[in-house]
Amino acid sequence: MKRTHAWVESANSAETHFPLNNLPYGVYSREGSAPHCCTAIGDQVLDLARLEDAGLISAGPEPVFSQDSINDFMALGADVWNAVRNRLTDLLREGGDPALRNDDGLRAAALVDIDDVVMHMPFRVAEYTDFYSGRQHAENVGTMFRGKENALPPNWLHIPIGYNGRASTVVVSGTDIHRPLGQMKPPDSDNPVFGPCRRLDIELEMGAVVGLPNAMGQPVTVDEADAMIFGYVLLNDWSARDIQAWEYQPLGPFQSKVFATSISPWVVTKVALEPYRVATQAREKQLLPYLTENGPLLYDIELEVLMQPQGARQATSIAATNYRNMYYSAAQQLAHHAIGGCRMNTGDLLGSGTISGPEKSGFGSLLEITWGGKEPLMLEGGQTRTFIEDGDTLTLTGYAQGEDHRIGFGACRGTILPSPKFS
Ligand code: CA
Repeated sequence: MKRTHAWVESANSAETHFPLNNLPYGVYSREGSAPHCCTAIGDQVLDLARLEDAGLISAGPEPVFSQDSINDFMALGADVWNAVRNRLTDLLREGGDPALRNDDGLRAAALVDIDDVVMHMPFRVAEYTDFYSGRQHAENVGTMFRGKENALPPNWLHIPIGYNGRASTVVVSGTDIHRPLGQMKPPDSDNPVFGPCRRLDIELEMGAVVGLPNAMGQPVTVDEADAMIFGYVLLNDWSARDIQAWEYQPLGPFQSKVFATSISPWVVTKVALEPYRVATQAREKQLLPYLTENGPLLYDIELEVLMQPQGARQATSIAATNYRNMYYSAAQQLAHHAIGGCRMNTGDLLGSGTISGPEKSGFGSLLEITWGGKEPLMLEGGQTRTFIEDGDTLTLTGYAQGEDHRIGFGACRGTILPSPKFS
């Protein structure tokens, strides 16, 4: 797939995350102005409410872009998603409709330097479900928690295992996160203790954003589930490992995951990722028919994690892997969710589960990278880490690599602050 040439010159570089082929959706504001829906083109944010106001784009009879979320737009369905994308492509491509390019006033109002804006949550998270669908991660964690023989639970190769998380603490990249407080049981102690988490971790994940709902009690096929998905974000499922180890049996993570989940400010659409579809890996056990895929439903997306202590001059790359390593696709996860009767809504967020590659350099959490804290990580500048310390900034980034361009997600960043005062 070749790059479509844009008249916004910065969109034509090989490295930008936002060529004209991408057109992700987000929500931004400038000082003194209300948040609006936008897209990214090169190093610019394009205000979609301004274009809608000027009559250059339309999603239907009612305006949808002068809002602080893309939920109403997502709810309009794939025909509208495609029509708006095609129209934006025509307005921005070299040789396309010159209505925006030739309007100096509108261009000045609608195109803003990406460094001059504040990015907000792109969508209202209706509900958040987190899965556990990376096999390497599940085997690594299972080996540490239960031993090699019992690493994969007996249901793992048959069910995309998940739990219902909290939508209320899903936050946009750039939001600082306080180290959580909680209950944990040190291995040398008979009784649990209370205090700040000591084994604070990341989880490198992708999030699927549900665009279209199903009715309560109405099962959907894997293909129908795929059609319900609007797009994808980078997702960091911050995790308190010591709280998790003490609480997780028998119902799974609870307090260890509630304090924050960070996402990238850009939702990259499924249609932009279409050229990068890849199949899930060979099934070790045949799946039940309702989970069987008819085509490739994963994506070839290169992912990286960077860590930077407070005051450090540079960040260190601590993991590099690929979304294609997942065992279950988001469409399978969504079909599994709905088959039991669950109504899925516009704005639901499905976390993929930690994405770990087969090599140690591709492990998507510090728990795995440092093997439970036993093998400290060396950072640029000489500091070492087992888990996250206060002041550390963690950044996820990722893109699909095309022939001469990238379809990127930007960054998903968070800095850890000390735990709240409590006595
Ligand atoms: Ca997770």
